[in-house]
Amino acid sequence: MSERTSYAAQPGLQSDCGNCFGLCCVALPFSRSSDFPVDKSAGTPCGSLQEDFRCGIHRRLRDQGYNGCTVFDCFGAGQKVSQVTFKGVSWREEPDSARAMYEVFPVVRQLHELLKYVAQALDLPAAGPVHGELRRAYERLDALTRDTAEVLLAVDVDALRGEVNPLLLRASELARAAVPGRKKNHRGAHLMGSRLRGAKLRGASLRGALLIAADLSGSDLRDADLIGADMRDTNLCGADLRGALFLTQPQLNAARGDARTKVPQSLQRPPHWAD
Ligand code: SF4
Repeated sequence: MSERTSYAAQPGLQSDCGNCFGLCCVALPFSRSSDFPVDKSAGTPCGSLQEDFRCGIHRRLRDQGYNGCTVFDCFGAGQKVSQVTFKGVSWREEPDSARAMYEVFPVVRQLHELLKYVAQALDLPAAGPVHGELRRAYERLDALTRDTAEVLLAVDVDALRGEVNPLLLRASELARAAVPGRKKNHRGAHLMGSRLRGAKLRGASLRGALLIAADLSGSDLRDADLIGADMRDTNLCGADLRGALFLTQPQLNAARGDARTKVPQSLQRPPHWAD
């Protein structure tokens, strides 16, 4: 891959529902709650899943109470499991493989999430000193996602995460060291419902912070590390998230924002954010 190519933006790390057997709509369970209007067990197809594996209510998901679907992202795991692990043969065509497919999908989804983080670190020029190690970790993880269902079901994802996390942390430190000024450390902080309107958090560490329903409207979150931060219902109206590290689409989708919110170039403004 050339120096100018974004690792994180490569198609293999974006969901491609047209090449997937609707795996998130079948393999995953959901419970009646503010995110879903009904209960569904793992392995049962959602009632709105069509014969062609498309969602029949895709444009009306929020209107019909399926908010949980609109914050989900498989990071490209769906098409990988459908087309690579199970070689394009669906659970409808081969019911005997359905159970393994449903079990492999969450494993590959976690591996793809890790791949996405490593890819984001590889896109940070300031993290150059660890790019060699990151590239090796990326190649190893990518090769693993292409292995057989049996191998994937035996993967210890937590152990892999433990190996990769120090590299991501080092990349974050290098990138944030290049940001001017004193950087705040809110790593793992419990900030649920906190009033942080207009907070100056440029280059801060918010790794794993609980930001549920926190008011971060108008805040400066440029270059802040948001890996694993719980951003459900976080108010990001008017906030500046350009250059935020390890921010993912599901985090953004779960938060609230508006037309003034500045999002990183690699992510999309959620369509349900108010204009
Ligand atoms: S698993 Fe991913 S690719 Fe498949 S339908 Fe769901 S979001 Fe789309």
